[in-house]
Amino acid sequence: MKFLVVDDSSTIRRIITAALKSAGYTDIDTACDGKEALSKCKADPAIGCILSDWNMPEMNGFDFLVAFRAMNKKIPFIMVTTESEKASIVKAVQAGATNYVVKPFTPDILLDKIKVAFNKMGIEA
Ligand SMILES: [Mg+2]
Repeated sequence: MKFLVVDDSSTIRRIITAALKSAGYTDIDTACDGKEALSKCKADPAIGCILSDWNMPEMNGFDFLVAFRAMNKKIPFIMVTTESEKASIVKAVQAGATNYVVKPFTPDILLDKIKVAFNKMGIEA
């Protein structure tokens, strides 16, 4: 299972990557905004799960989600938000987000959210 971790903060990218690695996932790519993430998704069919921040320059996580869902409805897409964006979660779920994680989160919470998202999409974790 290849993951794409999308966040404009290198610290958050590092935290998420470390959590994934602790769970045994080693195939991880990163992108620093929605625009870069979208082009990576188009170029790399191996990407099987997306974890994306909401607030990012160039293209935010919501616009990335909408653009991604226009081309792929099967891959789990987990939105990583801050407390203040929580109200927008409904909007994200309606646009096709599989699950969401609110910052700050522990590795356990993140991995549980991924597990739930995999179950929803019928994917073996
Ligand atoms: Mg951000």
